[in-house]
Amino acid sequence: MTQKQKVVIIGGGLAGLTAAYLLAKKSHQVTLVEKQTYPFHRVCGEYISNEVKPFLQSMGLYPSHLGPNEISRFLLTSPSGKKVEMPLDMGGFGLSRYAFDQFLFEKCKEAGVTFLLKTEVLETGFLEKENTFSLSLKNGESFYTDHVIGAFGKRSRMDKALHRPFMENRSPFIGIKYHVKTDFPDDTVALHNYNGGYLGINKIENGTYNVCYLGDKEQLRKAGSIESMEKTYLFENPFIKELFHNSEMILDKPVVINEVDFSKKAPVVDHILMAGDAAGLITPLCGNGMAIAIHSGKLAAEAIIHNSERTDIEKWYATNWSQQFQCRLWIGRKVQKLFGSELSANLAVGLLRTFPPAGRSIMKRTHGLAFGFED
Ligand SMILES: Cc1cc2nc3c(=O)[nH]c(=O)nc-3n(C[C@H](O)[C@H](O)[C@H](O)COP(=O)(O)OP(=O)(O)OC[C@H]3O[C@@H](n4cnc5c(N)ncnc54)[C@H](O)[C@@H]3O)c2cc1C
Repeated sequence: MTQKQKVVIIGGGLAGLTAAYLLAKKSHQVTLVEKQTYPFHRVCGEYISNEVKPFLQSMGLYPSHLGPNEISRFLLTSPSGKKVEMPLDMGGFGLSRYAFDQFLFEKCKEAGVTFLLKTEVLETGFLEKENTFSLSLKNGESFYTDHVIGAFGKRSRMDKALHRPFMENRSPFIGIKYHVKTDFPDDTVALHNYNGGYLGINKIENGTYNVCYLGDKEQLRKAGSIESMEKTYLFENPFIKELFHNSEMILDKPVVINEVDFSKKAPVVDHILMAGDAAGLITPLCGNGMAIAIHSGKLAAEAIIHNSERTDIEKWYATNWSQQFQCRLWIGRKVQKLFGSELSANLAVGLLRTFPPAGRSIMKRTHGLAFGFED
């Protein structure tokens, strides 16, 4: 039995909420600091790999009452409209982050997590002598804690405060999301390529569809507006053009993020256990960043639950994180190069048409196996 610890989690996406829930269930004193307030929309394709389903179900965290949409088929198209379809071995479900994060937030509150919402962490410091962290908040307050889990997503001011090397580089990618009403097979997730990026569509809850794409910042600059960029570049792919023409937009405006970056990151920095995108974002075309966020949040919680010495906690986490995710993230970065241009997307479609096992093999290597929680 380890002594119950005070844990602060910075960031309340899927990684932070999962870690918070598991630690609170084990009676640790958990505070989660989130700069936004629930519910809110995020840029995300909202296709969640089934590798997390048994874990969510076993912990009472699978929100079947919200009507997640089961997905078992994959459609890939090239910019000129060539297509290939295949079944998904593991499959997944579609559910909006608006609903899913809100549900997990409620579960965490029930489990005893304290939330500081609309609150931003500016910096952390590790006090060697006291073996304690200090945290400074934007509202001027500061406090101390035994452990910090960094679940602050792909790019945060925390990365700057920690002098993480990838913050030196600008990323060429932007992310844009819509919720729409349209006509599209319920059981399918599509990945439509265009010269400059790729767009995903799948059904989520309430008869709604998520349309989300990874685009090119330079194309947006040249086009001058999102609408003009879509007409000029995305609509080259006839599937994307048809989709936009036959969809009714639900959100007032698209949700947009800049600086989507797939750089390699360290899982432990200045004694902080990094979880989810803060430890590395897998390219969206793999469709399992959310599964990795949930799984790594679980590992960060287990590291604290199963070990008492800080050095053991960090070693346990870094080893388990690398075993689970390092190779998947690397393959994701390589596969990303196959998409976003006519030539490479045609090659990818051609390859999967003539040799379907290649697609299966890539999916297997970027996805994990189902897992459980070791308490
Ligand atoms: C275009 C695109 C499409 C994608 N599509 C899919 C998909 O279909 N399927 C899939 O599985 N994955 C997808 N992903 C990846 C997935 O969205 C992420 O991997 C996942 O959201 C990571 O969760 P997280 O908890 O690590 O971070 P996030 O969900 O980003 O949460 C981080 C939280 O930290 C908060 N925060 C940041 N800094 C601070 C601070 N200093 N103080 C307090 N709070 C802070 C933020 O407000 C945020 O709420 C996609 C990604 C992109 C870019």
